[in-house]
Amino acid sequence: MNIILLGAQGSGKGTQADMLSQALRLKPCASGELLREAIAKGTPLGQIAKPYYDRGDLVPDDLVAGMILESLSNLGDAKGIILDGFPRNSVQAELLDRRFAEMGQRIDAVIYLEVPRDMLFDRLAGRYVCQAHGHVWNIKTHQPRIPGICDYDGSALFHRSDDTPEKIAHRLDIFFHETIQLVDYYGARGKLIRVDGAGDIGEVNRAIRAQLALKLNLSGGMPLSAQEESPAGD
Ligand code: AMP
Repeated sequence: MNIILLGAQGSGKGTQADMLSQALRLKPCASGELLREAIAKGTPLGQIAKPYYDRGDLVPDDLVAGMILESLSNLGDAKGIILDGFPRNSVQAELLDRRFAEMGQRIDAVIYLEVPRDMLFDRLAGRYVCQAHGHVWNIKTHQPRIPGICDYDGSALFHRSDDTPEKIAHRLDIFFHETIQLVDYYGARGKLIRVDGAGDIGEVNRAIRAQLALKLNLSGGMPLSAQEESPAGD
């Protein structure tokens, strides 16, 4: 089973990808996470990607696609993949379709998490992420017990360099002008599931599971996630 999570930054797709990957035994693959790792390690790809990342621009398609498509052929024990943050435009979507076709596979469902822009902005501006596992906290709505420390793993929290007001506005512009076109792309192919992402984590997860079960004809519904209430990366 191969699933794409589509949504703006701050829509909660990282959190939901983490929960679904555990419930369905899918390999989670987040393009932003992979890029942050490459940049932190200073790999050749990371060095090229860094100026784009720092401006809040999309990293060139061929670089990101190369990185993601490689991980498709390396699933280990997983029963498929769950993509978070890729594709982000129609060029990337077409590259992905082509690769799945070459592998004799397909995308089963694309989940679009819909959240109003002002709510996305507030979530991102107040967002703090833990160093160790990307658990997400928020200074207004979801504070850790000890300021600056993750409740789940005790690691330090940091504010992402691209979560400044100017860069958030720029990244959301890119989403609402460019990435949003994928809603029609996958809608036309009968893959799209729309879910209201404004509610709390458990509520959104239940809505996703119910709609996925319908779409994929899963008798008995979807397996429950072991960590339904655990906030992971976004
Ligand atoms: P994210 O963690 O998904 O918000 O991504 C952080 C940044 O990584 C984005 O602002 C882009 O600079 C870059 N990035 C992540 N995924 C992609 C993608 N599919 N295509 C191009 N750039 C990407």
